[in-house]
Amino acid sequence: MKAIVIGGNFAGMTAALELKRKLGKEVEVTVIDKSPVFLFIPSLIWVPFHRREVKDISIRRDEIFRKKNVNFVMAEAISVDPDAQLVNTSKGDFEYDHLVVATGPKVDFNAVPGLKEHGFYIGTPEGAMRIRKHLDAFVKNPGPIVIGATQNAGCMGAAYEFLFNMDAWLRSQKIRKKVELTWVTPETYIGHFGIDGMTGAETMLTGFLKMFNIKFRKETAIKEVREKEVELDSGEILPSDFTMLMPPFIGVDMIRNSPALRGTKAGYLPVADTYRHPDYPNVWAAGIAVDVKPPFEAGKVPFSAPKTGYPSDETAKIAAENIVRVYKGKGKLKAKSWGDIPAICVMDAGNKEVIILGNKLFRPRGFAVMIPNLLGDVNKVLFEKYFLWKTRHGYSFLP
Ligand SMILES: Cc1cc2nc3c(=O)[nH]c(=O)nc-3n(C[C@H](O)[C@H](O)[C@H](O)COP(=O)(O)OP(=O)(O)OC[C@H]3O[C@@H](n4cnc5c(N)ncnc54)[C@H](O)[C@@H]3O)c2cc1C
Repeated sequence: MKAIVIGGNFAGMTAALELKRKLGKEVEVTVIDKSPVFLFIPSLIWVPFHRREVKDISIRRDEIFRKKNVNFVMAEAISVDPDAQLVNTSKGDFEYDHLVVATGPKVDFNAVPGLKEHGFYIGTPEGAMRIRKHLDAFVKNPGPIVIGATQNAGCMGAAYEFLFNMDAWLRSQKIRKKVELTWVTPETYIGHFGIDGMTGAETMLTGFLKMFNIKFRKETAIKEVREKEVELDSGEILPSDFTMLMPPFIGVDMIRNSPALRGTKAGYLPVADTYRHPDYPNVWAAGIAVDVKPPFEAGKVPFSAPKTGYPSDETAKIAAENIVRVYKGKGKLKAKSWGDIPAICVMDAGNKEVIILGNKLFRPRGFAVMIPNLLGDVNKVLFEKYFLWKTRHGYSFLP
């Protein structure tokens, strides 16, 4: 059997290694990714502040795949023809019996005028290094800073992490008092995170903002980002010498180029709770490529739900297990909706952290807690070390 996995980072690497681990010689697994490097994206928030180098959080994925007898093709997937069972890439066409789409997000910088030209972005190595360069100069001539997320964004957690790390860095540079730091978010309340209703989240996060003298605007949309200011929808203008607003994520072009896959308006793949495509039983999705409906009432300003690492990994495991079941002729597939996957996350808060635990990502939950640790961010660092170790060894079966 030939399986192709498009995308080889969190979800794609797990799906590919799990397929190979479970089926051995019975499957030929090929991963197609445009980059040869696995990137531990959560630690990018430390790169601008010299706490990590990009190389510390990058691992050659082609070498991991080689050791595990998985083929790796460094190419960009351009489109999929699910009727012909073909993936068209920058390096030619590839046939499959089963296909897993794990292409992650495309970042929609067009969501707000001026965001691309005048804003910074923390979610790529290039973006993080550009911020580092800017901050190295900023320290000599500090000014106001605006950090947050735009309307329709879903990855607010990473923006909060970056905000608190910025605060800690400004203090370490002894320039905090010279900087007006403002948080702007589409969330209906501070600490919503797009997952709504974690016990104590609003009180804890609002307390943090007040404790660190960070101004904030909630339920706020951005009208325009300009070189030295951010204009809000209300007409209010926030002066800003440095702006980092998390844009919305959408699906990648490959999904849009493949109309038969019926990608959603945002460019994600509609799949069942088995992560199987409704029209093509040999097409599966995992990670951010999965369409997830926000589980809460929209507020004045639209925003969406985050798709974090743990569910990305879990959906990849479910998709791989189900391919194995289909291949072995087992009738019953494993099913778990995105929102039913446990919430397990550590939010770094700049030498502090908040541990987020819940039996389900989305409400209703049996339990949900947020545990602050003001003494350091040891759990976040341990999580990073564990994940890099697990990835280097290709131990995809571990949580
Ligand atoms: C700054 C930041 C901080 C974060 N912090 C956390 C955190 O602390 N905890 C947490 O749980 N989550 C965090 N996340 C979210 C986490 O990074 C994602 O959940 C995870 O990366 C999703 O995995 P994925 O495999 O779906 O997508 P990705 O990791 O984005 O992988 C997609 C892969 O597909 C490849 N690809 C895309 N299109 C194509 C194509 N057409 N052809 C070939 N290859 C293609 C890409 O090169 C990439 O390797 C953070 C995200 C950001 C941006």
